[in-house]
Amino acid sequence: MVRALFPGSFDPIHYGHIDIAERASRLFDEIVMAVYDRPLKSLLFSPEERIDLVKETLSNNKKIRVIGYSGLTVDVCRQVDAQVIIRGLRVFSDFEFEFRMALANHRLAQDIEMVAFITAEEHTFLSSSTVKEIASLNGDVSSMLPDIVEQKLKEKLKSMGEHTLSANTLRD
Ligand code: ADP
Repeated sequence: MVRALFPGSFDPIHYGHIDIAERASRLFDEIVMAVYDRPLKSLLFSPEERIDLVKETLSNNKKIRVIGYSGLTVDVCRQVDAQVIIRGLRVFSDFEFEFRMALANHRLAQDIEMVAFITAEEHTFLSSSTVKEIASLNGDVSSMLPDIVEQKLKEKLKSMGEHTLSANTLRD
């Protein structure tokens, strides 16, 4: 049994993440979506909201479950008995970041491997920050994320008011 952890901020989850999770679920026995509670960037959604959206979005895939986490990714891997960390690659800048993270994680835990999936061509440009920015400017994001997430995103932006959205919140 090979269990893989797919960690991320998922602020919010979009079709780029979903595609990687679905493809990974065809390769591994179980995927644990691990929603990181305090990344070094400002977030729009709370950890609970991000976890709920990931759950609602992927609930039809019985091989996928969702948890929240704080602390080191390799520690969570040990807690849930995952041997693999899944990540997605879009552009070269992702590669540099993921390469360094993979080496650091490997220094901490030699028995845990990182597997990176190359994004689907149509999702190359897609990031949570791009989606948030377009939605905050009333652009059409319906092709970028599921209806339920789009609806929650619009509600969230409305509740915050146009002017409170900082550049930091939009950064990936
Ligand atoms: P983090 O805050 O850990 O970078 P994200 O939620 O932004 O987390 O993304 C989680 C993972 O999903 C990362 O490995 C990221 O590269 C990957 N990812 C994000 N967007 C896409 C996309 N459009 N296609 C493929 N992978 C993606």
